[in-house]
Amino acid sequence: MFDFELDRASAWISGGGYSSVALQLPEGLKVRAAEISEKLFSATGAEIIIAGRPCYGACDAMDYKGVADALIHFGHSPIPSQGEDPNVLYIEARSDAEIDGSVMDKLESLPKKVGLLATVQYLGLLPRMRALLESSGREVLIGEGDRRICHPGQVLGCNCTAAESVSDGADAFLFIGEGDFHPLAAAFGMRQQVMVLNPVTGEVRDMAEARDRILRKRFAAIQRAAQAQTFLVIVCSKTGQNRSEDASRITGMLRSHGRTAFKVVMEEINPMSLMAYRVDAYVNTACPRIAMDDSARYERPMLTIPEVEVLLGEREWDGYEFDQIRAPRTV
Ligand code: SF4
Repeated sequence: MFDFELDRASAWISGGGYSSVALQLPEGLKVRAAEISEKLFSATGAEIIIAGRPCYGACDAMDYKGVADALIHFGHSPIPSQGEDPNVLYIEARSDAEIDGSVMDKLESLPKKVGLLATVQYLGLLPRMRALLESSGREVLIGEGDRRICHPGQVLGCNCTAAESVSDGADAFLFIGEGDFHPLAAAFGMRQQVMVLNPVTGEVRDMAEARDRILRKRFAAIQRAAQAQTFLVIVCSKTGQNRSEDASRITGMLRSHGRTAFKVVMEEINPMSLMAYRVDAYVNTACPRIAMDDSARYERPMLTIPEVEVLLGEREWDGYEFDQIRAPRTV
């Protein structure tokens, strides 16, 4: 069960004196939107407006102004580098799952020094997992990410800097969460083995096979794009996915290698939104996982920024570079 903290949300609405509040939920939690809306309305009397457009991360936080007085964003943590807005409340929807000590039987192969990672819903399990691993004689490392990351040990699908920060000391990583999306970020970004513990089912698995399967597809995408002459460089208008400077840099690089490159800015990137453009290949500077995980949906090859650099001979394929969205450097 996930904790939607509706008492805290109601108190925040009433305390802030908001008369209207927008609700934003990721696709997997939208099934609860009507129930949450009704409960918040009953508790506060505020008008509740459910945001119907797709939501995949806090990178996608809705511009609620003009729609409502405030926004409650469920299912993600804030992205600190995006700044704070007192009229936005993040409810991370933490899980109440627990880890049974018997799981250690499945983790015997873990080496001596283990980096711990999790999605935001399961970060509350890190202390328990740390205690279990330490009682088995292992050393545990939990890293701090850059300013795109809100909590120690947290991984986003586009950012594994929390793993990077302890990479020198860790022999392997153990990721706590469901699904492949987030642990794949660690598996793409780190050279060490990444094991996953699903705390709901108790399943333990190694990410190596899933990572290698996707890397083979990425290599094929680069080869398919090798003969492309005309490239569409996609820039996303969402604050947390906007990499205009990288888009300009990669556009210039393509042109300096004799290719034709155009930039397009759009909010939602999907096969329909790209259909109108007559180009040979796409470069996606928005969420890198659109190219990496969803490439089969697109008729033309779609590359990430480092993959274009490989294509142009500016970077080696060996030691595949995961296209992370990092927090902007502060001066
Ligand atoms: S850019 Fe993609 S992976 Fe990163 S937070 Fe947004 S949706 Fe998730």
